[in-house]
Formats: sequence, structure tokens, C-alpha cells
Amino acid sequence: MTTDHTHDATLRSWVDAANDPANDFPIQNLPLARVEEADEGEGAPGWAVVIGDRCVLLGELIDDGFFDDAPDRLGLDLLATECEQGRGPTLSRENARFVREKLSRALRVGAAEGLRRAVEGAMVPAGDVRFLTPGSMQGYTDFYASVHHASTVGAMFRPDNPLLPNYKHVPIGYHGRSSSIVPTGTPVRRPMGQQSPPDDAPNAGPSFGPCKMLDYELEVGCVIGLHNDLGTSLPVARAMEHVVGLCLVNDWSARDIQKWEYQPLGPFLAKNFATTVSAVIVTLDALAPFRCPAYARPSGDPAPLPYLADASDQRAGGFALTLEVAIQSAQMAERGLAPHVVCRSDAFRDMYWTFAQIVAHHTSNGCNLRPGDLLASGTVSGREPGTRGCLLEATWDGPGKPRKPIELPSGEKRAFLADGDAVIMRGWAEREGFRRIGLGECRGTVLPALG
Ligand code: CA
Repeated sequence: MTTDHTHDATLRSWVDAANDPANDFPIQNLPLARVEEADEGEGAPGWAVVIGDRCVLLGELIDDGFFDDAPDRLGLDLLATECEQGRGPTLSRENARFVREKLSRALRVGAAEGLRRAVEGAMVPAGDVRFLTPGSMQGYTDFYASVHHASTVGAMFRPDNPLLPNYKHVPIGYHGRSSSIVPTGTPVRRPMGQQSPPDDAPNAGPSFGPCKMLDYELEVGCVIGLHNDLGTSLPVARAMEHVVGLCLVNDWSARDIQKWEYQPLGPFLAKNFATTVSAVIVTLDALAPFRCPAYARPSGDPAPLPYLADASDQRAGGFALTLEVAIQSAQMAERGLAPHVVCRSDAFRDMYWTFAQIVAHHTSNGCNLRPGDLLASGTVSGREPGTRGCLLEATWDGPGKPRKPIELPSGEKRAFLADGDAVIMRGWAEREGFRRIGLGECRGTVLPALG
């Protein structure tokens, strides 16, 4: 992926907030969001592009003919109408590139007067809209691509042989539930569920009650923009042509429920009570300066099978992102204590499988992906405790040892989440010579169980 004038670090926008170095959405980013007016009953949801503290409503610009010179005008007409029906975004890489490039020209300081006026007419303050999930997300698949996560979790159960024999050959995944995907800011109810008998009383029988081991999972999501027909597959070399971009995902997990239910068919109620996603999709074009080589497999690891192998994907199939998780308890919020960062890492570049391989694998049997589908990476973890993307790993202190809780600035301790805890995930990309761009945040607060 090449960089061009839209990535120029010296570009500034006439939207002032976008020029604040701390803002995630400068003119070099221009991510997509799905928004509706915040007043109930006012208008239908539509696609927007976010800049600084503003949203540019794409439907209005498309209707006004602003994008009439697009390479695929019909495709953009579909984008303008599908949102109301809860579908999409249908967006080819060509159209995504065109929309970002034209908006970059219109939003920069020194833009032609006509372009600027057209965009000003389609702009609303971000505070005046409600952000929905950035994609219809009617299909949701969750993977397990972080080798450090798989190794640490595996070591809890199989210290001598943490990775199962299939791990280095096949991208492991399972189908998630799409109905419970919620946008950032939505509170998450602690689930009720069936739990195994206590380890020290295996004959006591299972119990049913509020989850006692509620966890988060820090993940990166990949949103599909173009479908493949049922019965066809996408070669790894072309897989990313079907991807719009990336978002943040919190795959909330009930570890006690998971432990009892997951064999032999995999996760079910421990995972499907809520999944939180960030508000925007950062496009592959915006991320072009931050691509990096795919994870270098240690010598002795098997080569991927040919349908998962592509030289250019190996060279630049990774994303150099920094990811962070912070916790703010109810008591911290009351006392005005800032969220406490419990994980920060650049481990996303160490995914054992790239998104191109994941898309190719997902469609390799003829399974059809659709615009707006969400494919999540799986928990992103590094090796060290401060880089682990879930509490299951972060508070694990070794085989047979009690959990080592995280201490919060309020003096409270957490082995797992308590009611009232807010979990705030953030992600960004930065590199010398380029403007930092962000993925925004992915936030949810735990509500007490109903029961
Ligand atoms: Ca997960």
C-alpha cells in the first residue's frame, strides 16, 4: 500500500478540532461511522465520515452529486440507501479511496471554495448524533490469532504443550452472535449463567447465578465492504480488496460460564451476552503508512498451506497499532480518579495470522461474507503481564498459584471485573514522519446482574 498527499503530515483542516495533536480524527484519518440524529424519531441512520469533532453526512453529499465523478457511482448510491435498512457498508476499495481523497481535498486548509461549501452543508457536530455500530455486523466471527494469547491461555491448562497441534496450520475461529453487538458507550449487563461445581467439590453439581469471573477481551475487528458469492472463495492475495478497514472490539467473556459449557462445541452463552465495538472504521487507506511485515514465524514452524500463503501479505500484511485497556471503577469515577491503564502493547503486529489469511480461510470453503460483517482478531496479547489483553491472562500468576489481582489507584483490587467498572479500550497508529491517527475508543460499564 502506498502513501500519497492525503497522508502528508503537514496537512491541516479548517475544522479546528482536527488539528489538535491529541485528536484521533485528523484530516489524515477520515474514518467511517454510522450515525443517527440524537433526538428520537429524527431521521434515519446514515453513513458519515468523522473529522475532529464533526461528522460529514455522506448520504447528503451523494444525493447532492458531490461524488458524481466516483469510479463506481452506482456503488455509492447503494451506500447512501442501505444504511436505513441496516445493511452495509457496501464499499469497494476503489470507492473508499475516492471518497477519502475527495474529502481530504475539501476539508483541508486552502480547499477550493465550492468543495468546502458543499461539505460544510453536509456537516453536523459529532455531539448532535448518536453513533451506531460502524457496520451492520449481521455476521460476526471471532478468531484466536494472537500466538502469545493462545500460548498463555494454553499454558494454564497444558503447561508442557500450550498450543494445540492445529494452531500453526489453521486460523482458529468460531461464529459469534451478532444481535448483541453494541456500540461504544452502551452499558453491559453482567450475565447470569450455569457454572461448574467447585474444584474442591466436584460432586456438588452445577449452580446457576450471576457470573463471578467477568472479563474483557481486547481485539481488533476487520469490517467487510464487498461480498463474495456463496460457493466462491477469496484468494489470500485479493482478500483485502473486500475489507473496508479496522475497528476496536471488546469481546466480553464470562470465564466461569465458559469453563463449564465450552466442551465439545466451543463458546456459547459465555460470549454472546454482549460484544462492544468502537464508533468508527479506520480505512485501509488511512492505515497505509502503518502497515508492517506479518509476524515472522520462528524457524521450525510450518509454512502456511498454499491457499494461505502470499508473499506481499508476508511483507506488509501487519498493522503497527498500539492498543490499550484502562479500567475505571465506580469508586474511581466518584473520586475523580482517571481510568487506570492495565494493558498497553504493540502486540497486534505479532498476530500469527493476518486479516488477509483470515478472510481467505473464512471463504475457503465457499462461505459467503457480506458487507458489514465483522471478523475479530481474538484477544491481542503480548508476552508480558502489562501487555495481556484480558484479565484471564493478566491476573494469572502461573500454574497452581492464586490469581494476582490488579491494584487500582483507589486501592481496590481486581482479579475479574466488578459491577460499576468501566472498561475503556483505545487504539492508535503512529510513525515518525506521519500524523498519529486513532481508532477512537471502545467503552462499556458493567451493570449488576438481574436475577
Ligand atoms: Ca474473543
